[in-house]
Amino acid sequence: MRLRHIPGSEDFVANSHYVLSNPEQYKGAFSEKLFGNTNPLHIEIGMGKGQFIFEMAKRNPEINYIGIERYDSVLLKAIQRRKKQEPELTLTNLFYISIDARLLADVFAPEEIGKIYLNFSDPWPKKRQANRRLSSPVFLKIYKEILAKDAFLEMKTDNQDLFSYSLESLEECHWQILANTRDLHHDPVLNEGNVMTEYEEKFSSKGNPICKFIAKP
Ligand code: SAM
Repeated sequence: MRLRHIPGSEDFVANSHYVLSNPEQYKGAFSEKLFGNTNPLHIEIGMGKGQFIFEMAKRNPEINYIGIERYDSVLLKAIQRRKKQEPELTLTNLFYISIDARLLADVFAPEEIGKIYLNFSDPWPKKRQANRRLSSPVFLKIYKEILAKDAFLEMKTDNQDLFSYSLESLEECHWQILANTRDLHHDPVLNEGNVMTEYEEKFSSKGNPICKFIAKP
């Protein structure tokens, strides 16, 4: 993602009601301590401007959501957008964490997460950068630790090479691929209830087919 640093974004994010300033305090008890319920916890890693997770939280009040984003300039945009759409602060099932996904196991306890979404993750096309891909074995190891038993990892992308790499990476780490398609929007089963992300709208409007897999460790 092309990124322009926005001056003041760190302070804005640090003072936002929506962003957890000390997320480690909820480790192992996010649903109970933060959301005040026992609902499942789903996270999106690399949420960008947050359109997907905001819509998911609106549609599914019985699920707790946390959006993970490492750049405060991007998180700032997500918060500004959310404030416009939700001036009355009615959504109580969605918070954000400003963190690099490499540190997820510091924040979430083993088996705490019910589902992980990766949407249009940065492709890092150079081979020497492969470990930065959010579907690399480095990250799959972290996801395996924090995902609950029988919980899923779902990924969408329009990048065919990244998708192929991700499927190989899942196989290398002995994950089970439950479903996959290279043309999500024409797959009546997988596309049912699909919530589009910003990148998905942009790239599918250019005619790029969207790939998706659902997998579990
Ligand atoms: N998910 C959104 C969508 O589909 O419209 C945004 C996609 S954007 C290409 C990828 C986002 O992932 C960027 O905002 C980037 O900052 C974030 N990201 C990349 N690597 C990350 C990491 N290691 N930890 C947290 N966020 C990351």
